[in-house]
Amino acid sequence: MSPPLPETGSTDRPELSVVVPVFNESENLEPLVASLVPILERSVSSYEIVFIDDGSSDETLSVLRDLHGRDPRYRAVSFSRNFGKEIAIAAGLDHARGRAVVIMDADLQHPPEMIETFVSRWREGYKNVYGTRVDRTKDSALRRMLTRRFYQLFQNFGEMGLPEGAGDYRLLDRQAVEALKSMGERARFSKGMFAWIGFRSIGVPFHVAERHSGVSKFSYRKLTRFALDGLMSFSTLPLKVWTYVGTVISMMALVMAIYFVVQTVMWGADTPGFASLIVSITFFAGVQLMSLGILGEYIGRIFAEVKRRPLYLVAERLEDDRTVTPSDPTRPTTQVRA
Ligand code: UDP
Ligand code: MG
Repeated sequence: MSPPLPETGSTDRPELSVVVPVFNESENLEPLVASLVPILERSVSSYEIVFIDDGSSDETLSVLRDLHGRDPRYRAVSFSRNFGKEIAIAAGLDHARGRAVVIMDADLQHPPEMIETFVSRWREGYKNVYGTRVDRTKDSALRRMLTRRFYQLFQNFGEMGLPEGAGDYRLLDRQAVEALKSMGERARFSKGMFAWIGFRSIGVPFHVAERHSGVSKFSYRKLTRFALDGLMSFSTLPLKVWTYVGTVISMMALVMAIYFVVQTVMWGADTPGFASLIVSITFFAGVQLMSLGILGEYIGRIFAEVKRRPLYLVAERLEDDRTVTPSDPTRPTTQVRA
């Protein structure tokens, strides 16, 4: 169920919403708004910027309050804790009212000028206009290598390929936004979901800029988790591969059995063979544990999905011309998305 947005019918939708997930980006917000606004002013008739404060612990929320006080078109939703960028994007799509929605990072790595191109592509009829990174030189060599591998894996084993270099910086038509909102999964792998929904799509190349201020919020650990989530959400191959491995191993065992029977009949029994016995026992124990582990990964995910917990909890909303805080009796204290 999507959160209620009764105040706005489809007629008073702004033309464009810009959704920005923010996690400890207080230094970047003012520069971001300063560079966004002139571009929005000249490329669309009306707009709003929806910030999703993903449980920041710095001054982010008070900067957002200032912004909202200055202009109600700067809206914000503040999570009760850090839920992660993917979930922040989902919340952004839930709250965006625009006829099209742009998703962008707060750190100015996504050049705002691109929005003009995105909008003109959208007006040509594309519903899913994504920025593709032409170079990844801003990332470390290791991160680049791992990223490549991940795309290859996905290409070969995923439900569908991911456009190379496509990230979260993109424009989505209202139709695509509604499609994404209808996807109920808890494990949000946006890159995969954007590709899965389809619609008329086009890539627009861009150069990733330096981070304006602060450091990347993604460690290798977080990225590995993210990659695993992505693969497991869009592929069942890790589950199925064990059928084939098992079949091959059983065949080998059958051949071995025949060989031993023939050998015993022809030349009689002979006892040595501990080494091969131990090796094969250890090997198969390993294979079995590995496949159990993979089953466990999926079962864990199924468990997370069936618990049907809300995707995120909102602690504060800065909307329209009033601030809605938990003390406001007219609104629910926590706004959830089930
Ligand atoms: N972000 C977020 N929640 C998180 C981590 C990041 O909302 O848990 C936001 C962050 O504030 C930024 C965007 O996601 O606007 C991209 O994050 P970052 O620049 O750290 O990632 P990178 O550019 O290194 O991929
Ligand atoms: Mg960044």
